[in-house]
Amino acid sequence: MQQLPRDPKILLITSEADMSASRHGGRAKCLQRLVRMGLPLPTTVALSFSCVHAIAQGRIPDLSQIMRHFDEAPLLSVRPSSQDPDWGGPGAILNIGMTDLTHARMCDEVGEEAATSLYLRFIQSWAVHVARLDPDSFDIPDRPGPGALRAALAAYEAEAEEPFPQDITVQLCEVLRSMARAWEGTTARLLRQAKGAPADAGLGLVVQQMALGVGQGECGSGVIQFVDSQTGQPQVTGRYLSQSQGRDALKADAGAIYLTRDDRGPSFEELCPEAFERLLRMGHLCRERLREEMQIEFTLHEGKLHVLDAVRVQRSSRASVRIAVALAEDGMIPREEAVLRVEPQALSELLHRHVDPSAPRDLIVSGIAASPGAATGRIVFSANAAQASAARGEPCILVRRETTPEDIRGMHAAEGVLTIRGGITSHAAVIGRGLGLPCVVGASELTFDPKRRQVVAPGGRRLSEGDVITLDGTSGEVLAGEPAMFEAVLDGAFRRLLDWADDFRDIGVRANADTPADAQTARNFQAQGIGLCRTEHMFFEEGRIGMMREMIFAKDEAARRAVLERLLPMQRADFARLFEIMQGQPVCIRLFDPPLHEFLPSDRAGMRDLADGLAVTLSDVEARVAALTEYNPMLGMRGVRLGITVPEIYEMQARAIFEATVQASRDGEAVVPEVMIPLVSAMKEVELVKARIDAVAAQVRAHSGVEFDYRLGVMVETPRAALRAADIAQHAAFLSFGTNDLTQMTYGLSRDDAGRFMSIYVKNGVYEEDPFHSLDLDGVGELLKIGAERGRAGRPDVTLSICGEHGGSRTAIEFCRRQGFDYVSCSPFRVPVARLAAAQLALSDKGRG
Ligand code: PEP
Ligand code: MG
Repeated sequence: MQQLPRDPKILLITSEADMSASRHGGRAKCLQRLVRMGLPLPTTVALSFSCVHAIAQGRIPDLSQIMRHFDEAPLLSVRPSSQDPDWGGPGAILNIGMTDLTHARMCDEVGEEAATSLYLRFIQSWAVHVARLDPDSFDIPDRPGPGALRAALAAYEAEAEEPFPQDITVQLCEVLRSMARAWEGTTARLLRQAKGAPADAGLGLVVQQMALGVGQGECGSGVIQFVDSQTGQPQVTGRYLSQSQGRDALKADAGAIYLTRDDRGPSFEELCPEAFERLLRMGHLCRERLREEMQIEFTLHEGKLHVLDAVRVQRSSRASVRIAVALAEDGMIPREEAVLRVEPQALSELLHRHVDPSAPRDLIVSGIAASPGAATGRIVFSANAAQASAARGEPCILVRRETTPEDIRGMHAAEGVLTIRGGITSHAAVIGRGLGLPCVVGASELTFDPKRRQVVAPGGRRLSEGDVITLDGTSGEVLAGEPAMFEAVLDGAFRRLLDWADDFRDIGVRANADTPADAQTARNFQAQGIGLCRTEHMFFEEGRIGMMREMIFAKDEAARRAVLERLLPMQRADFARLFEIMQGQPVCIRLFDPPLHEFLPSDRAGMRDLADGLAVTLSDVEARVAALTEYNPMLGMRGVRLGITVPEIYEMQARAIFEATVQASRDGEAVVPEVMIPLVSAMKEVELVKARIDAVAAQVRAHSGVEFDYRLGVMVETPRAALRAADIAQHAAFLSFGTNDLTQMTYGLSRDDAGRFMSIYVKNGVYEEDPFHSLDLDGVGELLKIGAERGRAGRPDVTLSICGEHGGSRTAIEFCRRQGFDYVSCSPFRVPVARLAAAQLALSDKGRG
């Protein structure tokens, strides 16, 4: 064994020792802070990252440099100390130094039972973690006696083919080596990299004298914390295992640490009032000096308190918000830091019910996590069944191959939606996010068995109508039954944190909202307006889809206009309601976008119903559906192309917008509506549509006698529109990038079908991520940059924004800030996450600058 000379990277932890988290790890640094705060820490030695790395390479330091700090024949523990505690590390090994000799001595000091129990526990952890022997051979019996100890030592000798080591230096050396090597193993590296650790993250180790908590008088060991891990509310909670009470089933409960689970013996406070008081003061001190809620690990030895360690309290998302806000309000940390401390994704959990992370999960299949939150219900296979189920008051999950506009009513009635096909921007996903409805899409391993009205999961598991399942729209998992859930919580702390975030944010956040309900959610989450109102969703409502179909079946323009006249008051009321809810915030209304055939039934039964309703023959319906069918509907007759070829639809919508504007302006402040044209690819399209909309505005002004302004904008969602943005901006006050279609057209990748092979593409590294999910900065991003630059060249004051599904993501917000965009727009439930992420980006920039 190659020995290194005296290693300066072995440090006794004192107030003055030259230590840092980046060289010795977070735990070692924290222990030094505890020493500085005067907490009663047993002697502790820290080994630096470089020292531990050398050990992993077989270069063992001179262990006398460690041992000289401890008593004669001590018992020691070794714990990991990675830079960030979340990166994990090998488990702690305790009671190093237990040998036959120490055991004999301790039998006198603390009694045979306690001494034997310690020795057995050490043999077990050594055998499993250091010698890597089969754990089954080293189970510890409930009431171990001398026979158990002899058996364990014999088992070790038989398995390891050598006697159990009896020299503390050998024991310590092997423990250090095994922990150092465990950190450098491939699995450990991959696990910590998944948590954000760099490839070369180092491990420090801390060697500490054991403060046993066994002996005469009140002895025991425990942990204590001062906030509730679930709610973040102040609350003393923890565990304490009292040796003197001879009990070991201990549990925390409302405000006190009890000694037993069942008979509620004396509380820890009653048993050890002084230690309890001291621990309370320590918690306070940690809060003040470490600016964090800490869990303190301690022992009591004959009434004397020792603090072994203190770690950040584990916390739920809800608690993380509550704790950050409380620390800022108490002046422990600045508001900026509170904003930076909460993961934006954690807010998403608070906004929705979610599955208790500790609950067992019976996984049926995984799909794409399309809309967060969890929902439980009985399976239904049709929108009608979903409505019937809702009418009976029975929560249901709508399971469809994929959803179409006809399913909207069913989606409203269901608790969640599961589809077999489709990706992150599919119909089900977009609507689900808009409604805040948990949604898993593209669960392509499921197959339909229509004859039996079942779906079949991998492994042949069958799910029938009526079976209870749970969708976890946050992870994309479909689970059997109903696991335990946490409810959504929007408390004062949540709102305060977001208010602070808004003070630091430098980019606007609007919401994509299609209905009054969406707009109300957007308003509740303090969106700065509506960035995209997809008006076609208003036509999917009960009573309107029939009229839309009538319009599509109209024989000529006059007949079409007659139906549109009946739709006009409904649209006007929709827009008036949006203006009212948004109270003067901007509302951007996108004119009709989808291909018309989306409004027609796709199966024979639906066509027969339609024929009945319209009093035409089934073959008429079939012929019309066939006439409207396109090979590539997403590249066909939709968006502005419909606006130019069937102009009366856009005219009706423009009239409805302007009449609602007049109405809203009469009732309150002047409204300046934003009207957006979808799927533009040429300047001429904008010119033509603009001329017609201007004419409608002039008519409404003349007719009402009310003056109003409006802003006309263009949705940049074809590559050509991005390239020709300079021309287009001549006629557009704003350009809003629709990154869903832009991604589809830049890659030539179908939004609706890509889910079929996307996971294979990502698995093989063809794409780093699904570009519909994570904005492709290289390709689509370049088009956005070009579009923004050219748009500004054409009109320097053009307003720029993004309104595709990427809008709420941190990557997209970062990109949009860099390009100087005015705002991002995302589904209402993502607004809080976007507000926090935008603030964090602005604060990080400020920190760097
Ligand atoms: C887009 O294409 O990015 C967009 C927002 O519009 P839609 O998803 O309605 O096509
Ligand atoms: Mg689009």
